Amino acid sequence: MINPLELLFRRTVRERWCTGIQCTTCGSFMFRDALARYLKRYGPAEWPFSNYQIKRMYRDLAEIDPPPGQGSKYEEILKGLFKVVSPSPHLDDELGDSWARDVLSSMRDRYQRRLEARRIHDLANDPNEVAKRRAEKKAKRTEEHKKRMELQRLKALEWHKRNKVNP
Ligand SMILES: [Zn+2]
Repeated sequence: MINPLELLFRRTVRERWCTGIQCTTCGSFMFRDALARYLKRYGPAEWPFSNYQIKRMYRDLAEIDPPPGQGSKYEEILKGLFKVVSPSPHLDDELGDSWARDVLSSMRDRYQRRLEARRIHDLANDPNEVAKRRAEKKAKRTEEHKKRMELQRLKALEWHKRNKVNP
């Protein structure tokens, strides 16, 4: 027997349902409605879904493998699904070694990388950091200027010596 969540994935592909949860045109109504109906098989809750409902969903997810050539479509659906039902890290083990687990891990990796990029960006634009870098640059310029002046002074001194002109 094919699992009901896989049927939902197939139907989403077949009927080209929009899974963009932030979609301003349809709000992915068809997809969200079908997902809520699917989850109702495992409990009465419509929103928020119970832990038991989510756990059953994870078990169904663990059995899904995208058909050849539909990997990216399935991935998009899974991302849409996780925007409706927030991932439950404590249920990761229910996913075993499945395709869904891989997608979820890569979603988390990307999220972590975005956070890190954000942190670096914020640090680079932190007013204190900016002021600190500016002060360092200024100190370096002053130092270089001093060196140049000293070099010029020595050169002038040498010139005066050579030409026997008192400074
Ligand atoms: Zn839409």
